[in-house]
Amino acid sequence: MSTFKAPRGTYDLIPPDSATYLAVRDAIAAPLKRSGYGYVETPGFENVELFARGVGESTDIVTKEMYTLTTKGGDQLALRPEGTASVLRAALEANLHKAGNLPVKLWYSGSYYRYERPQKGRYRHFSQVGAEAIGAEDPALDAELIILAHDAYRSLGLRNFRILLNSLGDATCRPAYRAALQDFLRGLELDDDTRRRIDINPLRVLDDKREAVQKQLVGAPMLGDHLCEACKEYHEQVRELLTAEGVAFEDDPKLVRGLDYYTRTTFEFVHDGLGSQSAVGGGGRYDGLSEMIGGPALPSVGWALGVDRTVLALEAEGVELDLPSATSVFAVPLGEEARRVLFGAVTGLRRAGVATDFAYGGKGVKAAMKAANRSGARLAVIAGERDLAEGVVQLKDLESGEQTAVPLDGLVEAVSARLG
Ligand code: ATP
Ligand code: MG
Repeated sequence: MSTFKAPRGTYDLIPPDSATYLAVRDAIAAPLKRSGYGYVETPGFENVELFARGVGESTDIVTKEMYTLTTKGGDQLALRPEGTASVLRAALEANLHKAGNLPVKLWYSGSYYRYERPQKGRYRHFSQVGAEAIGAEDPALDAELIILAHDAYRSLGLRNFRILLNSLGDATCRPAYRAALQDFLRGLELDDDTRRRIDINPLRVLDDKREAVQKQLVGAPMLGDHLCEACKEYHEQVRELLTAEGVAFEDDPKLVRGLDYYTRTTFEFVHDGLGSQSAVGGGGRYDGLSEMIGGPALPSVGWALGVDRTVLALEAEGVELDLPSATSVFAVPLGEEARRVLFGAVTGLRRAGVATDFAYGGKGVKAAMKAANRSGARLAVIAGERDLAEGVVQLKDLESGEQTAVPLDGLVEAVSARLG
């Protein structure tokens, strides 16, 4: 035990559990890599103003959850609370949108930071894999992203997740709806904070989790009834494409993101085994975001999936990922001369692509064999002086216990044959 502990709201990924996190990130990334998305990596911190504008001054993320700092040089920075604003900033900065190939499709994976009240599924440091398709308005693109997330979850073996889908309208139909909603909300019994929200971010009130608020929202005007023809048509196409590909979804007229630059398609992936932190991922169209951060008009769509909550969802469903053992072969030397020779054999196996480990620390045979069994290896390579004098090593199958002598200079071939 050290004097120090991981900071509140954070946790370490350590073996063997850390292997599951790597596998989840890989599984989410795999369908993106097969679909034209290129990998992007941005700094862990950005100018605070990028998030203030790009995530929105009125959001919880910006008002309450951001880790901000002033550098010695006087720069105002924030640890990134989410990925979209940074990725769009990077794409604009590199002029990717001018290369003549829209949409620009990017994926990312990394750590995000929010000053939240820590609880199961809600941390101050967490991990996301995300995807953004920048610069095209096409219902097939929205559908593509939803299908890719769906397929990623399925490939992990998850079943009990649901896709919630809604349309937020656009600059043509949203203003009139917003005004109608504000009228309705002003007639309700609400606390001061929520009243303030009616002015800046009225759609967010629909998302209020408190029952006293939800009860009053019965009969509130719903965006779905106020969509213009173009938005209705667009949304219908997204729905048809999902249905055609066998991706089930639920229409959720109350699913909102209150900010003006979120338009049309919005969706959330929820898992029913996670209690109140049920969102495993979310996303949607953000047609106005580029202009918000000083870029040209670039209609875009994207999502971010939470790795931590996806791992919790796997646990909730009792899904065990089929993770290959980290080590296939474990070498156990008997004596000093054997140590030197087997060390070389270990290097040779590794260079041939076989995951191999070695009994370090001058252990006795018993302790070394115990280490071999604990490593999860299928084979042990054991050698003493008499073996080496004959130019052989003992290859032991750690499951069956069966042991045979094989020539030292044919070890790679013998091991490969046995591992298949
Ligand atoms: P919530 O409503 O649960 O706070 P959110 O709307 O803030 O979620 P997004 O900003 O859409 O979440 O982030 C996408 C995903 O990242 C979420 O669906 C979730 O899986 C994950 N996520 C967000 N915040 C946290 C956190 N503090 N700890 C762990 N995972 C998180
Ligand atoms: Mg949140």
